[in-house]
Amino acid sequence: MPEQLNAVELIRKKRDGHAFTRPEIEWFVRGASDGTIPDYQLSALMMAIFLRGMTDEETRDLTLSMAYSGEVCDLSPVGGICADKHSTGGVGDTTTLVLVPLVAACGGKVAKMSGRGLGHTGGTLDKLESIPGFQTEMPTDAFIRQIQQIGCAVIGQSRNLTPADRALYRLRDVTATVESVPLIVSSIMSKKIAAGSGAIVLDVKTGNGALMRTLDESIALAEAMVRVGSLAGRPTTALVTGMDQPLGTHIGNALEVKEAIDILSGRAGGRLLEISIRLGAMMLVCAGIAADERAARELLEDALARGAGLRKLKEMILAQGGNADVCDHTSLLPAAAHVIPVPSRASGYVSTMDTTCLGDVSQRLGAGRRAKDDLIDPAVGIVMDVELGSRITAGQPLAYLHLNAPELAAESIGRVQRAIAVAEDKQPQPPHVYAIVRDGGVIR
Ligand code: URA
Ligand code: CA
Repeated sequence: MPEQLNAVELIRKKRDGHAFTRPEIEWFVRGASDGTIPDYQLSALMMAIFLRGMTDEETRDLTLSMAYSGEVCDLSPVGGICADKHSTGGVGDTTTLVLVPLVAACGGKVAKMSGRGLGHTGGTLDKLESIPGFQTEMPTDAFIRQIQQIGCAVIGQSRNLTPADRALYRLRDVTATVESVPLIVSSIMSKKIAAGSGAIVLDVKTGNGALMRTLDESIALAEAMVRVGSLAGRPTTALVTGMDQPLGTHIGNALEVKEAIDILSGRAGGRLLEISIRLGAMMLVCAGIAADERAARELLEDALARGAGLRKLKEMILAQGGNADVCDHTSLLPAAAHVIPVPSRASGYVSTMDTTCLGDVSQRLGAGRRAKDDLIDPAVGIVMDVELGSRITAGQPLAYLHLNAPELAAESIGRVQRAIAVAEDKQPQPPHVYAIVRDGGVIR
């Protein structure tokens, strides 16, 4: 270990466009975790990395250093390969709640550590906590026991995992350094590795509701994650999927749980089900349960048709202290006091949606946090009544607001109306899946 490392030299080195050595990366990751490098130097370093980038080897070393900056979860007692799924974050994106029970119903082992809502995007933990009694905190041995017994568990990430990411992410958020490929890759992949994932399936979003808005940027991010996953010994595949409109029809916590239950009960489908099946199929292949994605898809569709996914969700809710009756009676989920239609101001076809704005409106109604310690209102959100390409007549509803604060209605109606553009001509529906990225290359 070199003796003379110091933060100023490292900032200068990256500022001038040079690559870090592994010991240099290990040194500053330790300094970020234990607080010995001050925030102003870490911030300058993040900006230098943002502007100059990193090689794949640097990104791998950063990812592994961050992964091992705290505790690492050992899932080997579960047996077999635990395949994990991660989304870069979207609106109405509740694939986890659909695919975790379906994959477990097909014999997959899913050990999922999920996050809370971030910005305009929802978080799986907040959604699950809208189920009365559901617990998202659990000691590691109980987590592993539950996966051994029923095949799946979804909990929050322990505070002891990846302290380096917590320190760096907090600074990136306030220094305009979030949208950097090496910094996103290391942030996400370090958490997956620390959580014990043996194989990783990524859902990289693209479009106006995504972290990376252009297709080229989103594919570049997916490719970097796949390369670093392989270099780190965690086989990784990615789907690049559209986020130019909400994925499901429901946005908000209990509302998204309801949509997942409706899908698992066979009452709903659409894009959310399709993407969940695609990602779930990739997980079953990674875990060695199906030979290829076609066979995996058949297993998942059969589990759905038999109601095995819904039964698995009930088992998981029960195991985590929640009221599993919500699966048969979604009226037991928290419901908002007011449901108000948002009328279209024009007739024509829905041509574009400002997806980030729709996520923001839902957050503003109380579905997300503006400050770290804000309380979530599980009941509120938006239910969409149109998608891109839908025919609409002036005065007909575009969506319904579910709210508990009637004073927010007028402003929210205006924002949703402005977020959904209606044009005279019908545009083609954008694809749901733009690309598949594997170690071998990209299929567009
Ligand atoms: N999600 C993360 O966890 N980290 C990032 O850097 C971006 C999205
Ligand atoms: Ca999500």
